[in-house]
Amino acid sequence: MLYAGQAVSVRDAGDGLYEIVFDLAGESVNKFNQATLNELRDAVAAVREADGVKGVLFSSAKDVFVVGADITEFTGMFENGEDEIVAGILETTKIFNAVEDLPVPTVAAINGIALGGGFELCLATDYRVMSTKAKVGLPEVKLGIYPGWGGTVRLSRLIGVDNANEWVCGGSEKKAAAALKDGAVDAVVAPEMLRDAALDLLRQCIDGKFDYQARRAEKQQPVTLSQIEQMMAFESAKGVIGAQAGKHYPAPLAALATMQKHAGLTRDAALEVEARGFAKLAKTDVSRALVGIFMKDQAVKKAARKHARGAEPVKQAAVLGAGIMGGGVAYQSASRGTPILMKDINEQALQLGLDEATKLLAGQVKRGRLDAAGMAKTLTQIRPTLNYGDFGNVDLVVEAVVENPKIKKAVLAETESHLKDGAILASNTSTISITELATALEKPENFCGMHFFNPVHRMPLVEVIRGEKTSDEAVARTVAYAQAMGKTPIVVNDCPGFLVNRILFPYFAGFSLLLRDGADFRQVDKAMEGFGWPMGPAYLLDVVGIDTAYHGDEVMAQGFPDRMAHEGENVVDRMFKLERLGQKNGKGFYAYEPDRKGKPKKIFDESVFELLDGVVGERQDLDAEEIIARMMIPLCIETARCLEDGIVATPAEADMGLVYGIGFPPFRGGALYYLDEMGLDRFCEMAARYADLGPLYQPTERMKQMAANGETYYG
Ligand code: NAD
Repeated sequence: MLYAGQAVSVRDAGDGLYEIVFDLAGESVNKFNQATLNELRDAVAAVREADGVKGVLFSSAKDVFVVGADITEFTGMFENGEDEIVAGILETTKIFNAVEDLPVPTVAAINGIALGGGFELCLATDYRVMSTKAKVGLPEVKLGIYPGWGGTVRLSRLIGVDNANEWVCGGSEKKAAAALKDGAVDAVVAPEMLRDAALDLLRQCIDGKFDYQARRAEKQQPVTLSQIEQMMAFESAKGVIGAQAGKHYPAPLAALATMQKHAGLTRDAALEVEARGFAKLAKTDVSRALVGIFMKDQAVKKAARKHARGAEPVKQAAVLGAGIMGGGVAYQSASRGTPILMKDINEQALQLGLDEATKLLAGQVKRGRLDAAGMAKTLTQIRPTLNYGDFGNVDLVVEAVVENPKIKKAVLAETESHLKDGAILASNTSTISITELATALEKPENFCGMHFFNPVHRMPLVEVIRGEKTSDEAVARTVAYAQAMGKTPIVVNDCPGFLVNRILFPYFAGFSLLLRDGADFRQVDKAMEGFGWPMGPAYLLDVVGIDTAYHGDEVMAQGFPDRMAHEGENVVDRMFKLERLGQKNGKGFYAYEPDRKGKPKKIFDESVFELLDGVVGERQDLDAEEIIARMMIPLCIETARCLEDGIVATPAEADMGLVYGIGFPPFRGGALYYLDEMGLDRFCEMAARYADLGPLYQPTERMKQMAANGETYYG
């Protein structure tokens, strides 16, 4: 062996071929932490100095190639000054340049995921051979930065400016066929053929059948477009990319500007431009928040793995109720490989549930993600039924019938009597206490909450709710099932509304108060969308359903009468009374009509103000800052309360619950991160200005104490 480290080794592959192998000791994946990069530098130097080396293969001994840079090292690195960041980046680009400058041909054998820095290394080699199973890409913009180790430079020269703009600014992962089509890899082969194919390519280079030098030179020269062509390519991309990214996410446009700036330069000058732009982005609040989100996501997944440890997998599931949620759960379970029985009391509902699953699967087929056979197979995994005949076989049942405690208790008790020993019952209730529902059951230890969000196939979060009597096994199995469905489970303790809805309802209360005081709901939506929410509160209420919000509000008012009960009629009560239920019946705050694709399109009708007469105050113009403060204060305080009350275990789980459950703007990092950023002292001062709005605007004693001591949630 020419070199042996903890993460990188160099093996003799015979006939003058050497193989640089990534295999990070003690980890399930390879990643570029500083120690690995140092070893790579030494390994490349060893190859360079050795006698008789004719070609070099880069490969991985793990299922992934290299997943990317070690993001846990970013936080420390990004705290440095810009010049220091640039210097650090250029140290790594030197290593990648040394790979590119080896005096012999080089090939990367991409067996699995090669993202970010992992793919940038592949770009530094002369050729890339990719397994049909692998994925490549440069997802850095999702962290508020862009590729800094030569990715923007080499890719734009290799696959052309238009493609590179899409790869870098979109940040998506590419499957083998797409990567080959764009020219980002040179060949795609079956996994078992990969190493031989890559070695064969090296031999052909050595035999002079491929001009690897010419290929290498392409990456080191300016792009091959004229000035005018360059200008057209970059200027026309600006509008599209800017619109896609939105004003809160500067990285995609910064990446574009960097690629434009270095398009006319040779390699080393271009790399310097890239590094300088990278350092600027690394210093933004957005990248700090997004890197934080990545770390919190990892922490949440780790916590879930811990909860699920030792759980028996769910081999057969069932769902009660084939409505919006039940149909979604059935689709998600079946498409991720867990067969599911779907029971309803109504034949027509079963058909609607199946139709919904069919529609979603047809969409997958249309997008090329599934073939017809796959679709048929998935559909056979959903078995509709009107009775409990096969329930003796079921490991876990998700109850998703109407949100009515009496009906739920009756249905749960009835179901329990048909289940085998040890089977788990989980309720998808949005608000009703799990401990309360458990009183109807003989084995409350086998019962918990499993709260999905609508639409099930799209929303990543599942709250797993532990009732007073829920056993650890029930939690473990439910968490494991949520993971098997591709969801991110967060375990929370029982209370009305659990974590996410308990926080959402005070936010809605903030909205009602704003309207009471004369704000126009369109103005409120605009301000909150400007803040970064995917939709404003009026629109969100229409999407959630005014009836759902009304009933939820009753439960929350009962659960937390001190602060969530309200006197007199508010806007949600009025809408409910008028049967303006939102999107589901075509009118709520807004009216809805189907667009060309049949999706509900929001329209505004002035007459709605007359309907709200008496529950809204005389119209007054409030500025966005005031609206944002009045909406965010109750939300943030309730998040802090959930943490203090032990409903959620950690700030990271609380914040990710909000990001994944209700679309809290990721670039703001979550409610508790937002409080840290603002400073709890400033927040408490701001809340004091709105104290007359009631107890939802009153920070907890603990918050005030933290403010006085200068404490933060993230330490
Ligand atoms: P829905 O009205 O669309 O569906 C309920 C289904 O349950 C209907 O098909 C009905 O026929 C069926 N049903 C009623 N009694 C039944 C019984 N005894 N056995 C089997 N099926 C029965 O309701 P939904 O929106 O899907 O909500 C279901 C549950 O999910 C509720 O608890 C709700 O609070 C919760 N939830 C809803 C959302 C949402 O946005 N819709 C989000 C999260 C959670």
